[in-house]
Amino acid sequence: MRIVFIAAECAPFAKTGGLGDVVGALPQYLRALGHSVMVVVPRYASIDAARYHLRWAHGPMGVWMGDREEWCAVHVADSHGVPVYFIEHEGYFNRWGLYHDAHFNDYADNPRRFGFLTRAGLQLCKDLNFAPDVVHVHDWHTALGAAYLKIWHWNDPILGGAASLLTIHNIAYQGKYPADHLPYLGLQWGNFTPDKFEDNGALNLLKGGIVYADVVNTVSPSYALETRTPFGGHGLAPYLNAKGEDYFGILNGVDYNTWNPQTDALIPARYSAEDLSGKAICKRELQRRLDLVVSADTPVIGVVSRFVEQKGLHLLAQCIEGIVQHMRVQFAILGSGDKGLERYFGTLPARYSGRIGCYVGYNEELAHWIEAGSDFFLMPSLFEPCGLNQMYSLKYGTLPIVRATGGLNDTVQQYDEATGEGTGFKFDEPSAHAIYYTVGWAVSTYYDRPHHMQRLIRTAMAQDFSWERSAEQYVQAYQRAIHKKRAG
Ligand code: ADP
Repeated sequence: MRIVFIAAECAPFAKTGGLGDVVGALPQYLRALGHSVMVVVPRYASIDAARYHLRWAHGPMGVWMGDREEWCAVHVADSHGVPVYFIEHEGYFNRWGLYHDAHFNDYADNPRRFGFLTRAGLQLCKDLNFAPDVVHVHDWHTALGAAYLKIWHWNDPILGGAASLLTIHNIAYQGKYPADHLPYLGLQWGNFTPDKFEDNGALNLLKGGIVYADVVNTVSPSYALETRTPFGGHGLAPYLNAKGEDYFGILNGVDYNTWNPQTDALIPARYSAEDLSGKAICKRELQRRLDLVVSADTPVIGVVSRFVEQKGLHLLAQCIEGIVQHMRVQFAILGSGDKGLERYFGTLPARYSGRIGCYVGYNEELAHWIEAGSDFFLMPSLFEPCGLNQMYSLKYGTLPIVRATGGLNDTVQQYDEATGEGTGFKFDEPSAHAIYYTVGWAVSTYYDRPHHMQRLIRTAMAQDFSWERSAEQYVQAYQRAIHKKRAG
């Protein structure tokens, strides 16, 4: 099969979250299964061209938008045998932020930027003579690709045979913008109807993508069910339900080349389930690095997260001080985003010296240190399409404390206090109370049932969420999309 990914992120080049991880990893595993894959992403200012050996590939390339022609250049880099093409457009992508400026203000021209990226990705297929069997688009940024194939390219010799798969990594982000972008995006006003792109007078790019895509998936089975309901669907449940069996969940895989305590070059010491002595070193070094009291027998709870409402950190903010006041426990926090949360968590180390460590910012190495050096990993998400950190935590023997939602529910098995079975601690209620008491449960297990801790850690480290299985499920999804396209 020939597959083209068009996406706003691709690790390691440009990533803000799980979308980047998936687009960075899945193509490699598809390639290992014998498929031919290429990836198209923007060339953002933050991408280090020298480090990744970017080289000129094509251009100038003319891209027809709805009402004008735009020009760009195309560079390429190799990612484990997969060509990743970078669309260079000075006006659209030569900025440091992927989606917003330094003050977290969304760029007003985002629909044009990503509409252009999507069109450029399709144009590149034509220019490279790469006739895809499937165009795999991701989130609202490139959801338009599914519509373009049917509206513009249905009889094109290169693109006319391509089916589309749209993956929703987070339905809360839908790409809602004023309708006056429609002509530039090349969507006739006939598409601005409630059954396609129109949403309460605005343009909703994800909605239109769902309607036009041959097949739609999201990143965990539980999240697929949740998004079919009025609350979880953020307004799009009816359109997902209309897809019937052509909407389902495929759990994200983990890139164990990057996230594996036995081989991780970023952490202070390596370790395995058989020999956890390296984990003790990682804990000590983490405590030193974040100015925590160095203590082998005080449990450390790690948090690595975007600071956004979805992650439930405003609930943690309501109970974290109570937790450190009443329990012998430490926190190692890494994150950035909401300025109020940054200020709140960023000032806690000064007030709870040696007990709470916090680094505000994005730091890949520290994320690995926290995974390796913590005893527990807290994710109190209000909703979580898949979540990667809890899967990394399992591999690092760092027991997840999670709200039982979406992918968190699918990947963490509840601790059974009677038997010691399970891999983590789950709670249902999205409240500070529930976080407080579940953290208390985990901490009491640490102190009072060390034999259960050992068993939980061993079971957690034996979990396997490798990409191989997910990649095979994606191949089945592509086959379904192709079948649907041919039948249609
Ligand atoms: P989401 O995609 O919603 O942010 P995921 O758990 O799926 O959540 O993926 C988060 C990814 O981003 C993980 O790889 C995590 O380590 C990383 N990450 C998030 N915030 C930071 C940060 N401040 N520094 C380093 N890595 C981060």
